[in-house]
Amino acid sequence: MYYVSTRDKNARVTAQQAISMGLSRDGGLFAPTEIPRLSKDDITALAGMDYIGRASHILGLYLTDFTAEELNAFANAAYGGGKFDHPAVAPICSLGNNHILELWHGPTSAFKDMALQMLPHLLTASLKKTGEQKTCCILTATSGDTGKAALEGFCDVPGTRIVVFYPENGVSRVQQLQMITQKGENVAVFAVKGNFDDAQTGVKTIFSDVEIREEIASNGYFFSSANSINLGRILPQVIYYVSAYCGLVANGTVKNGDAIDVCVPTGNFGNILAAYYAKKMGVNIGKLICASNSNNVLTDFITTGVYDKRRPFHMTTSPSMDILVSSNLERLLYHLSGEDDVRVSGWMKQLSEEGVYEIPGDMKSALGELFAAGFATDDEAAATIKKVWDEQGYLMDTHTAVAYTVMERYRAATGSTVPAVVASTASPYKFCDSVLAALGEKCGGDGLALVDTLEKVSGLKVPEGLAALKNASIRFETVLEKQDMAKAVVEYLG
Ligand SMILES: *Cc1c(COP(=O)(O)O)cnc(C)c1O
Repeated sequence: MYYVSTRDKNARVTAQQAISMGLSRDGGLFAPTEIPRLSKDDITALAGMDYIGRASHILGLYLTDFTAEELNAFANAAYGGGKFDHPAVAPICSLGNNHILELWHGPTSAFKDMALQMLPHLLTASLKKTGEQKTCCILTATSGDTGKAALEGFCDVPGTRIVVFYPENGVSRVQQLQMITQKGENVAVFAVKGNFDDAQTGVKTIFSDVEIREEIASNGYFFSSANSINLGRILPQVIYYVSAYCGLVANGTVKNGDAIDVCVPTGNFGNILAAYYAKKMGVNIGKLICASNSNNVLTDFITTGVYDKRRPFHMTTSPSMDILVSSNLERLLYHLSGEDDVRVSGWMKQLSEEGVYEIPGDMKSALGELFAAGFATDDEAAATIKKVWDEQGYLMDTHTAVAYTVMERYRAATGSTVPAVVASTASPYKFCDSVLAALGEKCGGDGLALVDTLEKVSGLKVPEGLAALKNASIRFETVLEKQDMAKAVVEYLG
């Protein structure tokens, strides 16, 4: 298997190189040159395995430069040993025809763990195999969930350092506490005065600054990324879509070969891109349903073929989806355009210079065949949380509620009776304030007090990592002006 840059097909690399580099030098993302296939018999075989078995097999199809023993060891280290608080790792809770795929049983209670528990193993092994001598410094800008999941994944991993930047007032109190109490000798966390875009732009600037690169190189470091532009983030996400299908086959909900739909609460388009790869592998996914909040740039793109980021940025109750430039869409454009790297480069240039681009008619139809799209406002998502809790006793977080709302609306509009997998991306405990408000609970206090309130109201067990925040001491209190981010990194790497 080889991987090529979406902006230059001739930039062909192995999986190990793609994972080590994160982003191609030309600014493109690495995409597979072919997508491996699963037969009906393969699905039957996988249906009989546990999550670790499925993970080893699926990664093996993409990561042909690793041995089966290596991948099995990585899968055991990532998903075994009690790291996830559910034996199925990614269990399914069926509510009628909606099958909620719970992706938040990992150490930080958001779906980012599904990939970020695996990425450090893939990355350190790739660095070893490619003969890299320097220490890898992971730079991450986060709107809340990626930061903590990356810190947890890379905590005390030899040969790595990790620096996380979060917007000072842009994350929930629980998310902030998770990050600023992070343990480990190789970690640093900074608040940035500004919003998520400021933090993200700061990180991109550091990445592309040749002087800084040379300065840290002389100290024995190089930068890499734990954001979903890294191939090592996307591939582990393909596993749970295949696994979900196998799980539904194994428990008799669907017959092997029958179709399911998949609905994903979407921000950077990484999660739903993984579902697209699962479909291309041969898992019978009918429609890929892309759910957005009021930042509905993707809803418009999928329905009109015009991507237009020139619109107001909304702060919503599903902050991990507050994004106007979805990086991973570039990989989909590459595949749908018949791997036309020149046209993809053109659209990306137009997007950064003019804020808008439009795909041609044949691509629009292909897009419409594969995808459906919709969005839900904060009020609509809150109403869904309350309705599903009252009627079915199931509590979901705000991001999952966006997807659930869009899924129900899709069914009502199309009359579809196809079973649907709804990706559930965070524990309701991560967004206590919005979830409690949705339930109509009046509550004072913030942060950890709300965790207790939600526990009383819902009767659900508080995830271990969040319960432990009560006794955790704060380690990182520095707040930076955005223009001082580079200086902070250089000083930290000393
Ligand atoms: C990151 C995140 C998303 C968006 O996922 P993408 O892969 O960026 O589309 C949705 N929900 C939650 C809770 C997240 O943390």
